[in-house]
Amino acid sequence: MHITPSLTPAAMERWERMDVKGRELILARIWCVHCKKNHGIRDAEGHLHPSGDIILLGFCPSCGGKVARVIETGDTMGPAKYYP
Ligand SMILES: [Zn+2]
Repeated sequence: MHITPSLTPAAMERWERMDVKGRELILARIWCVHCKKNHGIRDAEGHLHPSGDIILLGFCPSCGGKVARVIETGDTMGPAKYYP
């Protein structure tokens, strides 16, 4: 299954610089606090934090609860020049 999250232009610019395998792993390993399992994400949306990290928000495909994930692109790509 191939999912592309709905991202702001600033977040998408960084997302596209990540390798495809890494992106798939991130999307498949999103922790659900309700299920206490990695269930991935559906209806994913994201924006860029001023730190340069991508903030991904969505829902657990299993229980429908809210899930979130910080992708630490700020560490490798530096702070954001523009956001969100
Ligand atoms: Zn869940």
